[in-house]
Amino acid sequence: MSDTQTVISDVKLFLERLKKDLPEVFGAAASKETKPGEPAAPVAHDNKVLYNGDLFPAQLYLTPDQAPGVTFDGKIFHVYLQTAQDNPSLLVTDWLKHNAKETLVQKTTAWAQKMGVEFNQIFIKDQQTLWASCSGKKNLNFSYRIVKMPSAVQDYLIVHELCHLTYMNHGQEYWALVAQYCPDYKLHRRWLNENKDAIFAEVELKYTSPQETSTETPTQEISQQQNSTN
Ligand SMILES: [Zn+2]
Repeated sequence: MSDTQTVISDVKLFLERLKKDLPEVFGAAASKETKPGEPAAPVAHDNKVLYNGDLFPAQLYLTPDQAPGVTFDGKIFHVYLQTAQDNPSLLVTDWLKHNAKETLVQKTTAWAQKMGVEFNQIFIKDQQTLWASCSGKKNLNFSYRIVKMPSAVQDYLIVHELCHLTYMNHGQEYWALVAQYCPDYKLHRRWLNENKDAIFAEVELKYTSPQETSTETPTQEISQQQNSTN
């Protein structure tokens, strides 16, 4: 029971962080809290990427002599744009899709060995209604969006599909097998239910040119000069 409470409070923390850092995910409700007559506060664009259950900052660079691309150093997503017309949101989405293939193949192979089951092929898709599925030919389909979830939830979805290699249904025996490898599966199911909007939200990054941000520098210089003449 105490175990359950720990995980639930983690989920709450995650949600609070999302509400603060990603208000657009929670839709208009949060932003419409301004009282009538009050102008809506302008929202500074905050470049963040949801990955492995955490929100990471993204830094965008305009590098004309370099092909567009994305690197992740464990703390920050670095997004290199060749021209200002390159779409940083698409670049990061592609990065997530490549990462999903690598991560899910690796994890699923390890789980299959542990569980003593064999699958055929893994396909990474962008299914709008399903996180994952398992075919009669023992092929596994996963949504690339799974890499946005915490690692334990990713593991649950993998175990869920691998258990379908033994039971092609959601009967009592099936869930008993899931519980054997993933005792917290009910919490992970709840997490999925409560966070699906955040997982389905598209990456939204915006490049601001240095010209737009550097307008503050001359102002500072002027005020310093004014101070020195006083
Ligand atoms: Zn299922």
